Formats: sequence, C-alpha cells, structure tokens
Amino acid sequence: MKTAIYPGSFDPITVGHLDIIKRISKLYDKVTVLISYSQQKSYLFSAAERKQIIEECLKNLPNVSVEVYQGLTVDFMRARNIPVIIRGLRAVVDFEYEMAMANMNRKLAPDIETILMFASPEHYYISSRAIKEIARFGGRLDDLVPDIVKPLLIQKMKEHL
Ligand code: ADP
Repeated sequence: MKTAIYPGSFDPITVGHLDIIKRISKLYDKVTVLISYSQQKSYLFSAAERKQIIEECLKNLPNVSVEVYQGLTVDFMRARNIPVIIRGLRAVVDFEYEMAMANMNRKLAPDIETILMFASPEHYYISSRAIKEIARFGGRLDDLVPDIVKPLLIQKMKEHL
C-alpha cells in the first residue's frame, strides 16, 4: 500500500492546500494530513480546530485522514511506517526552505523521501499568512479558502480584535 503524509501548519487550510491534497489522494492509497504543532509558534486556530476544519473539508476523500503531532515528523512517520513526505512548492522563494527541510529530514531518517508537488498556477500566490492579513482587514476571501473556513476566519478575527 502506497502511503504518504502532507505536513504543515494549515493555519488555516487554503484552496491551495486543498488542491494539493486532492491531487495526492489520487496518487497514494492513503494520505495523512499532519498538522504540526510547535509550542514556539503562535497559531490563530488551535490544533483541534484546524483538525476539525480540515476533516470537514476532506469528508469526501475517504483515503485521507488528519492527525495532529507535536514531535518530529520523521518520528511520526517511522511509528506509522509511512515512507513519503509531500510538500507543495509555490514560487522560487519556497525552494530553499523546502530543500533545507528535505535534507534535514533525510539526515534524520535516510529511508524517508520528500516529494515536491508544484502548486497549481491559480494558487501559487495563496498563503495562510496572506489570508490572515486579508481577513484581519475585512478583505474578500472568496476563492482563497474553502467555503466553511470563511465564517470561522471572520469570527476568529473578531475575537482577536
Ligand atoms: P508550513 O508552516 O509547514 O510551511 P503551511 O501550512 O504553510 O505549512 O504549508 C504546508 C505545505 O503546503 C507546504 O509545503 C507549503 O509550501 C504548501 N503550500 C502552502 N500554500 C500552498 C498553495 N497555495 N499551493 C500549494 N501548496 C501550498
């Protein structure tokens, strides 16, 4: 069985993430979306909220599951016997970061491979960081986040005012 993980912060999930997940779900028998959680980082949505949102967005993809993990991604993968990390690549600016991370993971776990998938051209400018900025100032979120994320994001911003 071909399995892979797609790790990230997903704070919040965007249509760009969703597109990658849909595309990899066709290539692998089982895909785990792994929500990373670091105590050093601050998030808009809690890990539990992100998990619930992503599960709702993916309810029509039966071979994709969502998990939260606080440790090293490679440790999660070893415990589950998952050999492949998928990451999305948008513009050139993503490249160095992704290359460093792939090589670090290779150093930690030489048996694990990182595979990069190009963002669809219509999504290459979309990032969770930009989405939060737009939401903070009341900008239009249409076509940027899945429909269920929009009201949650607006509500969250109100709470944070
Ligand atoms: P991280 O904080 O680990 O970078 P993100 O949630 O920002 O996590 O992104 C997770 C993965 O999805 C990364 O590989 C990132 O490059 C990719 N990604 C982010 N936005 C998009 C997008 N619009 N289209 C395709 N891939 C994306």
